[in-house]
This record gives sequence, C-alpha cells and structure tokens, in this order.
Amino acid sequence: MIGRKSIPVAHPVLEGNEKKYVLECLESGWISSIGPFIGSFEESFARFCGATYAVSCNNGTSALHLALAALGAGPGDEIIVPTLTFVATANAVRYCGAQPVFVDSQACTMNLNPELLEEAVTGRTKGIIAVHLYGHSADMDGIQDVARRHRLFVIEDAAEAHGALYKGRPIGSLAHAATFSFYGNKILSTGEGGMVTTSDASLRDRLRLLRGQGMDPDRRYWFPIVGYNYRMTNVAAAIGLAQLEQVDRFLDQRRNMACKYEQCLAAVHNYVEIQTEQPWAKHAFWSYPVILRDSVAIRRDDVMKALEQDGIETRPVFHPMHTLPPYRNAVGEYPVADRLATRGLCLPMHGLLNEDDICYISHRLAHWCTGSGT
Ligand SMILES: *Cc1c(COP(=O)(O)O)cnc(C)c1O
Repeated sequence: MIGRKSIPVAHPVLEGNEKKYVLECLESGWISSIGPFIGSFEESFARFCGATYAVSCNNGTSALHLALAALGAGPGDEIIVPTLTFVATANAVRYCGAQPVFVDSQACTMNLNPELLEEAVTGRTKGIIAVHLYGHSADMDGIQDVARRHRLFVIEDAAEAHGALYKGRPIGSLAHAATFSFYGNKILSTGEGGMVTTSDASLRDRLRLLRGQGMDPDRRYWFPIVGYNYRMTNVAAAIGLAQLEQVDRFLDQRRNMACKYEQCLAAVHNYVEIQTEQPWAKHAFWSYPVILRDSVAIRRDDVMKALEQDGIETRPVFHPMHTLPPYRNAVGEYPVADRLATRGLCLPMHGLLNEDDICYISHRLAHWCTGSGT
C-alpha cells in the first residue's frame, strides 16, 4: 500500500498526567533521586502488584541485580534461568559472580518448563528466575514446587508482564521478589526505570541499602557494605505514577488488540501459532509473538524483511541465551527454545494501533506465509 504510514513495533503513550507531574519536578527543583513522586510511585506500584513493598531503581536490569544480590546470590552459586529470555536475566546473574544454568521452554507459554527444572538442580543451585515472557505468566506452581523442595529462592522477572495474572493473582506477588522494567517499549514506561516488589520487610531493607551505595540509613556517609547507585529519579517516578494511573486502560487496549489479532489470524492458523493464553493465566500482551509453522516455506527473516517493506516493524523472538557468545559454553539441548527463536517474530503491539492496523498487519503476514505471490 503506497503512502501508508509505517507501523512501529512498540510506542509509549504519554497522554495522562506525565507532563504535569514532570513540570512539578522542574518547578520544585526535585529532579534527582529524592522527591515526593518516588514514594508515591513505589506505594501505588506495590498496591497494583498485590505486594507489600516496592523498591524503585534505575532500570529493569539493576532491579534483577538488586534482587539477586539481596537474596544472597554470589560466586559459586548457580541460578536457573530460562534460555529463552532477554539477555538481562542472565547478565544479572553474572554481575553477582554466579553462574546461570539454562532450562528449555514450554511450547505453549514460551516460558520455563517446570518439568525440566528438577534435573537442572545441583548442590550449588541457589535460586530460580521465572520470566513472564511477552506478558504471559510462567507456570508458577510447578516452579515453586521444585523451589520449595530444594529450598531455592524464586525471582519473577516481570519486566514484560505488568498487570498479568497467574491463577487470579497478580504477577509481582508470587515469589520472594519480582522485578519490573519501565524501559520505553514496556507496558508502563518511565524512559528508563525499574522496580523490585516483595512482601518481605528485611528483603526490602536490603534492596534499599544496596540501591543507595550501601549507606547506613541511620548514619550518613557510613557504608557497611559495597552498594550500588541504582536509584530512580523523581522525574522518572513522576512519569511512572502518571503511567500507572492509566494502566487499566493500557491493559484493556492491549487485550482488545490481541483479540483482533487472534480473529484476523484465525484464517491462517495452519501457518502461524500464537502464544495462547492458558486458562490459568491473564496475559498482559506486552508483545504479540507468532511462530511460523513448519508448513511455511519462507524463512522467518525473509518474512520480517517483507513486512518491513510493507511498513510494518517487527522483532525476532529473542536469541536463546545458550546461543550467545558469553553463554555459549552451556551444555544441554534446548529444542523448544531453538524452534521458537528461529521461527518466531513479534508483531506490533502498543496503544497507538487501531483495528485497521491489526487487520493490515495480519493480512500482510498471511500473504507472505501462504506464499500467495506478491
Ligand atoms: C526489558 C527486560 C529486562 C531489562 O530491563 P531494562 O529496563 O531494559 O534494563 C529484563 N528482563 C526482561 C525479560 C526484559 O524484557
């Protein structure tokens, strides 16, 4: 279609109180990591997740690092991580001097397969990071079961799953700690930003200590431990609070778009699989991954190129960690993740899409997959 605007894969929507609250920061001078929006955002976010506490930080990767460090991950420890995730999940484990141990995915949820967990546990295993990939909850009961048996901590990497549910319970309240990202393409954005939620007060204190250079809260410039400067700014928290005020609408919009995709793609279900919402889950639809079935002759990368020509931006499903240079020495077979990664692509999903866009995207995808010429 000539002259058609291009459709980005993700886009933030900043149409609420973002500007007003940021102006308040500028006018009051509270632009750094002290200020009223930080506490308000943390409190509101904890409530949103059904957790008792939320500790803000400067991005989702530092949130993971803080959670791991606060739970005591260190050199010699092994932390189990799904191989199919964004690289930050594995990197945060390395930041602690610990070793990520990769586990393959479930085909239906694209998340950590709990049936493979037991065999990944060794005497050095200290914890598990469950990632809620693309907004669909991991199978938490299966994961918690193994964790309890072996006395392991569990962290939810919920960077992509704000507002998702597992058996009716909010993501962010299902483990020892959960981490979130507010990067520009996530469901809620603060530009850059992150959060750790927990219902354990001593863990909260440790997260705060590590976030703020390790400074003793009762003694200024006294540092009992080596901490980090991972604080969120009041400006970012101002944007975050305004975003959180709109979260119900954001999630409804995403759900409606996902329904529209499902309708439009039903005609080509012999060609593409979708990340089906399980009966026990409520998907947050951060992104909309589709997997090309074996009946599709055209290569995934060529589908992405063809869609780009149609003005549609897409993203490949993440490269599994065991294929990346820093982690390539991992032993094991990961056939499900390998297939999802070579056959999967993420379609546009954000608040500026309309139903016509979704029909157009689905129509073009179907066109290229069914090989019906140009
Ligand atoms: C985005 C993301 C992160 C990292 O968040 P940043 O804010 O970009 O540091 C971690 N894990 C997953 C699964 C993500 O998608």
